[in-house]
Parts: sequence; C-alpha cells; structure tokens
Amino acid sequence: MTKYVTTPIYYVNDVPHIGHAYTTILCDMFKRYQVLKGNECVLLTGTDEHGQKIENSAKLKQKSTQEYADEISFKFQNLWNNFGIAYDYFVRTTDKYHDIGVKYAFEEMYRNGDIYKGHYEGNYCISCETFFTKRQLVDEFFCPDCGKETTPLKEESYFFRLSKYENKLLEWYKENPNIILPLHKKNEIIKFIEGGLSDLSITRSGFKWGISLPPFVNDDKHIIYVWLDALLSYITPLGFGNDNLNKMYFFNDATHFVGKDILRFHAIYWPAFLMSLNLPLPKKIYAHGWWTRDGAKMSKSVGNVINPEEIANTYGLENMRYFLIREVPFGQDGDFSRKALIERSNSELSDTLGNLLSRLLGMGEKYFNLTIESNNFDYLKNEIDEVAIIIESLEYYMENMMPNRYLEELWKIFNIANLSITKYAPWDMMKEQKVDDVATLLVFVANILAKGSLLLYPILPNSSKEIMKSLGVDFSHYNKIILDNELINTFKLTKIPPLFPKIEKPAIETNINKINLKDEINIKQFDKIDIRVGKILEAKRIEKSNNLLVLNIDFGESIGTRQIVSGIANFYKPENINGVLACAIINLKPSKIMGVLSQGMILTTEDSKGNLSLLSVYSNTELGSKIG
Ligand SMILES: [Zn+2]
Repeated sequence: MTKYVTTPIYYVNDVPHIGHAYTTILCDMFKRYQVLKGNECVLLTGTDEHGQKIENSAKLKQKSTQEYADEISFKFQNLWNNFGIAYDYFVRTTDKYHDIGVKYAFEEMYRNGDIYKGHYEGNYCISCETFFTKRQLVDEFFCPDCGKETTPLKEESYFFRLSKYENKLLEWYKENPNIILPLHKKNEIIKFIEGGLSDLSITRSGFKWGISLPPFVNDDKHIIYVWLDALLSYITPLGFGNDNLNKMYFFNDATHFVGKDILRFHAIYWPAFLMSLNLPLPKKIYAHGWWTRDGAKMSKSVGNVINPEEIANTYGLENMRYFLIREVPFGQDGDFSRKALIERSNSELSDTLGNLLSRLLGMGEKYFNLTIESNNFDYLKNEIDEVAIIIESLEYYMENMMPNRYLEELWKIFNIANLSITKYAPWDMMKEQKVDDVATLLVFVANILAKGSLLLYPILPNSSKEIMKSLGVDFSHYNKIILDNELINTFKLTKIPPLFPKIEKPAIETNINKINLKDEINIKQFDKIDIRVGKILEAKRIEKSNNLLVLNIDFGESIGTRQIVSGIANFYKPENINGVLACAIINLKPSKIMGVLSQGMILTTEDSKGNLSLLSVYSNTELGSKIG
C-alpha cells in the first residue's frame, strides 16, 4: 500500500524557522525510510494562507493579502527545494482546487446533518485564530495557548456537531491505541475528549480573507474557519471534491507529523471531520516537541529565532539534519545550540564516520590498488555477529518513531569498524605478510560502511549516496546486505573528497556575518521607527520565564515612563542594569508577553554565539533623545 505522510500546512504569518525545518526534515526522513524499504510513499507539505492574522500582517506590510501570502509561501517552497526535501505535493490553501474541495466538504457535512447555524459567545484570540470560553482563559482575558490578550465576541456562526463524535472518537482510540505518539500526548487527548466536546464554530464573519460558504447555503456574511480550511488541505490535492486526478487512495495509510501545540486539531477535530465525510482516518499522528535556543524559548518578539537556511549554509545541510534528529528524543523539547551542533558534527560525523571511510580508502589504495576481496571472514566472526544484532534492532526504533535511538545504535557499527582497525592493526599485519587477513579486514569495514550508508539514507541522503558511490554499492543491495544480512565479497573502491570536514570556529563567525543580512529597506521605512534614549529605573524578572525581564524606563518629560519586556534575563542581573541609558523603539504596537504589558522594544546587540548586550549611550545624553 502507498504510504502518505504530511507536514503541517505552515501558516504564512512568518518566514520559515528552525521548527518548520525540523518537522519537514522528519517527514522527509519518514518518506526516505519507506522508499529504502521498497514502499511507495507520498509526501505533502504546503502553506496555510487564510485568516484574520494574515489579513492584518499584509496590511502592516502595506501589501495586498494575496501578494503577501505569495511572498511567504514562495519562501517556504524555495527553502524545501534548496534543502532537497522529497515532497510530492505543495498545497496552498489559496489554490483553486482547494477552494472547490473545502466547499464540497462543507456541503457534505451539512447534508449529513453535522452543520447548523447558531450563535457563538466567547473570547477570540486573533493570534491563534481560536475561540475560548471564559473558563479556558488565563486571568479572564489572556489566551491559554499564546498568552496574548483576547477579544470578547458574540457572533452568528455555523457549528459542526463535534459533540456527536465524542463516543466515536473514544472508541476509535480504544481500538487503535498506537495512533498518537508520544503516548503521554495520547492520554492528554483522551482526557480532553472525556471532559466533553462542545460543538465547534466553523465559520467566521467580520473579515473576508478566507473561503466563502458554498452557494447553496446562500449566506455571504461568513467565511470558513481557517482550521477546517487548513485540515482539508491534506486531501484536496489528492482530488477530494474535484472530479479529476483522484489520488484519494493515498489517504488510506496517512501519517501526520504535527507540533505538540496543534495536536488537538489533528487528533480531535480532524478525525471527527473525516468521520462526518465517511473518509478513512489517519493511521498515525506524531507530535514533536519545540526547540529552544541556548536554553531560551524562541520567539519573534525576543528576536532569537533561528533561520534554518543560515544554519545549513554555515554548517552544512546534512550536519544540520543529523543534529536535529540525533540531538533530541522525538516528542521532547530540544535545545538548539551551535556549540552542540559543532561538537556532534566533529566527533560523530567527522571523527567516526568520515574518518572511517578515509581510512578504508587510504589503506585500500595503498595495499590493494582500490580493489579488495575476501571469502573467509572467520577471524572476525564476533564482530560480524555483533553488527548483525545491532542492524536487526534498528527497524524497531524507526517504526516507533525513535530516530535518535536509531542513529545512536547505527553509530555503534561504525565504532566497531574503527575499533577493529585499531585492534588488528593492518599496518602490522602487512609487515607480517598477512595480506589476506588485511584484505578481509578491509572488506569487513567496507561491508559495515555499505550497510551503514544504506541505513543512513533517510537521515543523510546526500552523504549516504556519496559513501555508496565510493564503495560501488547502491539501493539494489538492500535485500542482500540488510534483509538477508549477507556480506559482499569484492569491492572496487573509488576515492572521494573527505566527507564532513571538521567545522572550525573562525569559519563559522565570518559566515554568520555574511549570511545573516536582512532585506533591504528604504529611508522612509526606517524613518517610521522611533528609537529613543531612556534610563532604566527598575528591572524585574518575570515569574515563570527564564529569559524575560520587565523594565521600567524613563524617556524624559515629553514621553514619560514606559514598561518594556525584554529577553535579556540570561545576560543581566536585574539589579545591575538600574540607571543604564538604553535605546528602545517606542512606537512598536504594545503587546502582552507572558501576560505582561510591553510598550516597546529594547535594542540589544547579538554576537555569533547568541549573547545579547544592551545597546547603551553616554551618560550625559538627554533622556528622550532621538536615534537615527
Ligand atoms: Zn492565542
């Protein structure tokens, strides 16, 4: 059967960051693993482009909404192309076939008696595009998901009878206990359903950027809720609701990868919608964790978001792929640090794997003119058995979405190869004229690299092909050397440039400065930014936050005192910055960060290691002075 795997459909209110890259690379790994095993696998990704937040972001950038959505959607598509992601579908929720499919789904659900018109009363979070009841809000006003202030709203709305599917969903999870991984996330979802499901508002009014209701409803006041719209993008590219190109059978074996923050939409709403449409339900829903940066949460307002393209350009695409998958157990939060990436690259990729291949090619050339042959591996029997046991264990880790363990185990076979070279010392055996034993050792090492490179293909597709090329093996060897655990007797080696050169520190720093430039702006755009000098009167930590300080800053008589939240707590003790003359943007729209009002943004410098320092001026500068 054809496997189908999807990334979430990325929301275009922001450019791609490391979290997007992580999910997409995981899906790419999933697909390549299936392909390696000989299964057909189709990968879908795309962009979610509707909703009030997009309309607002476009206005801020003084662009038409479509123009703005196009721009960001292309950034995603370009990035996946540059990263060599093996996607088959790139869906955009502004595509025509999608519009047709969503209207068709609405009509089907309506005719099945699952949609009715009513009133909704609640608080709306624009940022999350979600309604919350009073009970769900934090401190009566704030969004439980993102912490921003919500708006009270009463409006006419169409509802989906989610309540009707409460028992069906519970039964489904009971019969299929392994759909959601990690397991503790499944338990949260079951608890949520058991707590009672209310019907779901699936339309919005008051803005226009979305899919209108199908003509038969005859109601142009409403547009379709962005989540119903977005979830359906998993099936509209397969022809759902359209007459032609029906590839809907891909959906019979679907795996969704999602961030843990959007699991509820995928594990409750989505299967309920599918039940209403009489469609197959997903086979797996994998929820991954979040990335922090050097211990701090990444956010646009703090300005510590990591650009995956810069990381790939600086350290190598495959080094980044390896780090993201190896560093963190699937489902847990992980910390992204350049230092950790460099350490893993240098020790595991360069020293263990790259060096093993160089040793093989070097000795193969020196002793055997690149052709190595052996039929009798008796003296290496223990090592060969050990390698076989490890390789047999690997499938379990990939099937249960533990790719970090998969890599950890796989590296053991490379270690066995390196250790056996040290142990048997082929250079000494050559002196003793044991030429056949040396050939056997090298053929054994070449077999480990052949097996290892095939098994690495899902994670490091390019390097694994390079290794295969130098050994003269390809995917057609999979059955023989992986499934049947046999050894190849003859290798004709080809020399290739060293894989995974060591990452040196100076090279990193110059690269960062070159690559991390922002888009060009004109003087008019810069003029809109009002930067002033202010004196920090008081700084306090924000409870529950590791990296945020709330600052009280005096900008002089004409402006007065402002409260500004800044992500500098890891770099300054609050008591040490009282009295500092800092620079701040004071015309930034006020926002709540972790429920605390912030009326501007403090300027800091950031070095290549992510260390922040306050930008400060001489102590005799007048408060409120303009900077520009
Ligand atoms: Zn929110």
